[in-house]
Amino acid sequence: MQQSFVHEARSGRVVFGAGSRRQLPEELAASGLRRVVVLTTPGQRALGDDVAAMLGDRCAGVYDQAVMHVPIDTARKAIDALRTLGADGCVAVGGGSTIGLGKAIALESSLPIVALPTTYAGSEMTPLYGLTDGGIKRTGRDWKVMPRTVIYDPELTYDLPVGLSLTSGMNAIAHAAEGLYAPNGNPIVSLMAEEGIRALASALPRIKASAHDAAARSEALYGAWLCGSVLGNAQMGIHHKLCHILGGSFNLPHAEVHTVILPHALAYNAAHAGAAMSRVGRALGHANGPRGLYAFARQLGVPMRLSELGMPADGLDRAADLVVESPYPNPRPIERDAVRQLLQHAFDGTAPIPGETPC
Ligand code: NAD
Repeated sequence: MQQSFVHEARSGRVVFGAGSRRQLPEELAASGLRRVVVLTTPGQRALGDDVAAMLGDRCAGVYDQAVMHVPIDTARKAIDALRTLGADGCVAVGGGSTIGLGKAIALESSLPIVALPTTYAGSEMTPLYGLTDGGIKRTGRDWKVMPRTVIYDPELTYDLPVGLSLTSGMNAIAHAAEGLYAPNGNPIVSLMAEEGIRALASALPRIKASAHDAAARSEALYGAWLCGSVLGNAQMGIHHKLCHILGGSFNLPHAEVHTVILPHALAYNAAHAGAAMSRVGRALGHANGPRGLYAFARQLGVPMRLSELGMPADGLDRAADLVVESPYPNPRPIERDAVRQLLQHAFDGTAPIPGETPC
């Protein structure tokens, strides 16, 4: 018998499959979009141009200035450019940074977004947005920033460098793991979370072995979709709080920080979220969730220490202070000394101990 729960289904349209980007013109037509701007990063400009060429007259231009954490000036310039071009929507082709720029535009202008994700970050499935102003990243939730249509074409991920593929996959697993103990979780969220972790755990080692393994790329993107859906439907806890602070206040790389922190954050919560940890372990084929993740990360050869990401040792105290500063939902109470210990373990790459409470 399930405990009581609420589930609100607000997912947009999802088109999934190798080569599915070629359905973009029909998808735009079905949405009544006639003059879109393609958003991308400078590094993915060539891909943006390919997408624009596919759209012909339906494309008003390519805007290639998306950068990490959506600086407010970047968003303002993009909104001005879209107004000048008379755009009626955006096609965001890229990772969380590009989709984040589309969300900032949608927040201000209400223009619809069609997303073609090229990483596993999952932003395309959430109503969450972030904007950075004066070095402070403000996040919020508004359904109008959720992409109307998401086209998942695994072929767009073939060129994602293997290292970033693995850390981006770990970033996705983090959404699912925290969704399993979210206070507003429910059976659908948990099903998506466990299956998402299972799919990524199966796919990432194969991508490490062969970056163009079509089946592995497809399974990883499927997992990323499920994990992103969990992020869009469930409140996140200490793991996401830690990563937000380490990324925002210490300028550490997003996916890598998630990768290093996750086993430690799960260890912190383990004794307070037994059922969730069992499901994480089961999805990984391991008896213990945090240890299983740590072993999985070691097997992938991804970064394991905050010290190797550029975190200063003398920043750990400040990070711990920031993590305990404001309340947020988490199965285990947020205790400053234990958080500081967690950060030290993550800094040194020490194996996580489930619970990290004296037992
Ligand atoms: P990213 O979008 O910053 O991409 C990292 C780099 O990889 C960029 O230079 C990009 O051009 C390049 N790249 C992306 N896909 C590629 C591909 N297939 N081939 C070659 N190069 C490629 O990285 P990300 O991890 O996807 O996104 C991180 C950002 O997204 C952060 O700012 C994070 O806060 C945000 N985010 C937001 C949400 C949300 O729900 N709002 C969810 C997850 C992440």
